[in-house]
Amino acid sequence: MNARLTIDIEGLQGRIDKLATISEQPAPVVTRVLFSEADLRARALVRGWFGEAGLSFRQDAVGNLFARWEGQDLALPAVATGSHIDAIPNAGRYDGVVGVLGALEAIRALKRCGFRPVRSIELIVFTAEEPTRFGIGCLGSRLLAGSMPLERAAALRDGDGRTLHDLRSAAGLGAEDMDRVRLPRNSYAGFVELHIEQGPLLEGEGVPIGVVEKIAAPSTLRLQLTGVGGHAGAMLMAERHDALLAGGEIALAVEQAALSSGSPDAVGTTGVFRIEPGAVNSVPCRAWLEIDFRDTLLARRDAALARIESAVAEVCRKRGVSFNLERLNADAPALCDAYLVETVLSASAEAGLAARKMISRAYHDTLFMAQVCPVTMIFIPCRGGVSHRPDEYSSPEQIRCGVEVLALSLARLAS
Ligand SMILES: [Zn+2]
Repeated sequence: MNARLTIDIEGLQGRIDKLATISEQPAPVVTRVLFSEADLRARALVRGWFGEAGLSFRQDAVGNLFARWEGQDLALPAVATGSHIDAIPNAGRYDGVVGVLGALEAIRALKRCGFRPVRSIELIVFTAEEPTRFGIGCLGSRLLAGSMPLERAAALRDGDGRTLHDLRSAAGLGAEDMDRVRLPRNSYAGFVELHIEQGPLLEGEGVPIGVVEKIAAPSTLRLQLTGVGGHAGAMLMAERHDALLAGGEIALAVEQAALSSGSPDAVGTTGVFRIEPGAVNSVPCRAWLEIDFRDTLLARRDAALARIESAVAEVCRKRGVSFNLERLNADAPALCDAYLVETVLSASAEAGLAARKMISRAYHDTLFMAQVCPVTMIFIPCRGGVSHRPDEYSSPEQIRCGVEVLALSLARLAS
């Protein structure tokens, strides 16, 4: 580098604020669901910024965006960074966006100080990190990694019955070849995602930089229970096959599976529990549960899933309730690359910033990029650990620190 690296935090904050104005709901709420009108306008805006920064651009068949700063040796695999710009309903402006616009500012800062990369640097904006439209998260990175079969992607339908093909056709991507989305292994020399922590640790400890060593293995179960309904007065207790009570026992078994796993990282949540008919004088005849279970070790997570599944069978047998249980996803954890983790730690030291290693308990596109190339993530603090809410906040200084560490890391990896 010919000059000292300086981050234009005013320019970056201006772009973050401008992007936040593109939302399906009024400010301060940010809602951008995959291929909604707001999502398409947001994509066009960032694409324009990529062009202004002199980056070449391509888009694949599912709408993953790739902006590239060409290096001096085109034969070498590029270094990649990036995140997502879709937002769940009623979200804020920093989740994902800091990793996309922060990476853009990192590249702009490296260009300003005269750095010339040997490896190309590629900024990826992943399609649908959030599961809002199709009920499955990280759609773009799953497909890039080949960890979702194309037949399964073709069968996805949103709440209005529209398929992925319908939506990507409407977005002008219908002629693109789905077979070409998957990236060959080692397409990149490494991938580093900058992201807000979405948890309270960094803020609590006053540490500006977190370097992710592993990402927990997430899984989702969907359960339908069918019992026998009846009049709450007339149906005596001995005759009951109550779907809610079966579901209640199963929710407790989920809690127990996490508590008895011996792992401080195991977390089990029954986040959806709906019943029918839902009347005060009627025995619940049907229940739907959705269960999220995570741990950092795959074997331990899978053992807990097996315990939950056998509890479902046992509770339903005992209560005379029938069930249909689906594993919607059971992804592997990602172990980050030791060399990349060291690179980010030494970039933090170069920037004069304290850093600590940590585990990501939320999952990110990096989880799937780990199947393509070596990965790590840079976390920055967010106020109160709050995310997925309009009051999500990281200060300009916190963002500046993250972008500086990302820029210095990319410079090392691309040299
Ligand atoms: Zn995110």
